[in-house]
Amino acid sequence: MATGKDGPFDDRDGWIWFDGELVPWREAQVHVLTHALHYASSVFEGQRAYNGTIFKLTEHSERLRRSASLLGFELPWSVEEIDAACKGVLKANKFTDAYMRPVAWRGSESMGVAPGKTRPHLAIAAWEWGKYFDPEIAKDGIRLDIAPWRRPAPYTAPSESKAAGLYMICTLSKQHAESRGYHDALMLDWRGRVAEATGANIFFAKNGALHTPVPDCFLDGITRRTVMDLARRRGIEVVERPIWPEELEGFQQAFLTGTAAEVTAIQSIGPYQFGSVEMARQLDKDYEDLVHGRIPNA
Ligand code: PMP
Repeated sequence: MATGKDGPFDDRDGWIWFDGELVPWREAQVHVLTHALHYASSVFEGQRAYNGTIFKLTEHSERLRRSASLLGFELPWSVEEIDAACKGVLKANKFTDAYMRPVAWRGSESMGVAPGKTRPHLAIAAWEWGKYFDPEIAKDGIRLDIAPWRRPAPYTAPSESKAAGLYMICTLSKQHAESRGYHDALMLDWRGRVAEATGANIFFAKNGALHTPVPDCFLDGITRRTVMDLARRRGIEVVERPIWPEELEGFQQAFLTGTAAEVTAIQSIGPYQFGSVEMARQLDKDYEDLVHGRIPNA
């Protein structure tokens, strides 16, 4: 039996917060006839703790509740209760630096498309997780494929929700990209505009300014907004606008932002090569300083 931190995710030591109490890791289980498993009635968060402090915790807890609401279910825990539960998980597992995964879902009281009498559940896990992309690769920039799958229109799915169901597209795109030797994929949106990567937002640099797509059909990431603020603090102009793939050729730099990915430089997207990773390096350093409390929050 695997123990410790490297086994499969259902077979580890530690504590998971489950519907109001801390339970031993292996006992945090759900039934196979859970609504979430069949109809994707599930939303989640990804947040990181640095030096014992969970970065922008309240924003994550608020987004979690809003994500559930957008799927039509309300969590019976307040933002303050979710914040406190997250802190409790970090403490119980004796972590100072960790990735944290709150997940909320509809239970098994009804089976069928209708949510019926299903009850909302919430679990919060944490584990030590280093860089999302191999630092050796990321230092010169990762290589992105262009995904065959697209972000759906906001009238097709509630794109502001960090809903598990929306990740089907991401998993398909990531698997396709990795099978072709890439590290991740850029997804276009339903109109054919540049949208985001499979677990992170995207930025481009041209003549000293940053350009990033308008998040009107994908997640307006907490890291995205943080990095926009950090860039503006440096006097860098940040332009949110529709971006078409034809423009990729004219950009000089590109990078991803996300809680897991932090700030990750991009070397190439499909056939387009970027010349420098300087802006990503600078903003990654600023981001590291911010999350470690070495520079103040805005
Ligand atoms: N887009 C997708 C698809 C993501 O999974 C994430 C990670 N949560 C992001 C963007 C970035 O969001 P955040 O900066 O809030 O982590």
